[in-house]
Amino acid sequence: MSVVLATPTSVFHVEFGEGRFEIAIRRHPRSKRLSLRLSRATGEMVLTMPMRASLASAQSFAQAYAGWIATRLQKQPEIITLAAQSTFPLRGVMTLIVNHPRVAGGVMLTCDENGDAQLHVGGDVSHVPRRVKDYLKKQALHDITFGVKHYEAKSGLKSSRITLRDTVSRWGSCSSQKALNFSWRLIMAPPLVLDYLAAHEVCHLKEMNHSPRYWALLNALCPHVEEAERWLKKHGAGLHRFR
Ligand SMILES: [Zn+2]
Repeated sequence: MSVVLATPTSVFHVEFGEGRFEIAIRRHPRSKRLSLRLSRATGEMVLTMPMRASLASAQSFAQAYAGWIATRLQKQPEIITLAAQSTFPLRGVMTLIVNHPRVAGGVMLTCDENGDAQLHVGGDVSHVPRRVKDYLKKQALHDITFGVKHYEAKSGLKSSRITLRDTVSRWGSCSSQKALNFSWRLIMAPPLVLDYLAAHEVCHLKEMNHSPRYWALLNALCPHVEEAERWLKKHGAGLHRFR
């Protein structure tokens, strides 16, 4: 993976029809030309440009593509903040966040009389998104560690450590030092998807590739490879809209 050194982001706007759309600028040392893309991680429209290109050239470039920008930005799924009264998937189950401002800041998962899942978050309403995210990371580490241990015991392989990150390009990775890394967002997916990712990375402890030998090992170990891969392909990107 290449390291991208980008200068801090600045923004400008283009207009199209009734709309005004924000464009984030990234100047990039290896960029040779102007290009536009929709960031999957942040939902932003990003214009990448060479270090020395002028802002005016970027603006006229973006204006020429204003129709395309408008369509792409309007089509993308809505960003959902993990705040009080929001609903988000937890282990694949839609869960309502309920804030209790007068209860000291704990987090508790329950279900109401209809069997609907609720995540109760104590403390000031402004702290809810941070508390929910901390809770989700803790739960993710717990479930992923459980899954990794399970597949380590089954395969006789052993990782050196497990860490969590908020990666966009992949759900998990395995380093040559046998450190496994996962996206905490997997806690939102159905449990079989998280379980599959644990198996996927444990198998990389033996095969650092996606060769037929690797897939044979993984399929022998994990019963729902195909189902999980299908779910990730269809719904995986959607997990990035919860912030
Ligand atoms: Zn892999």
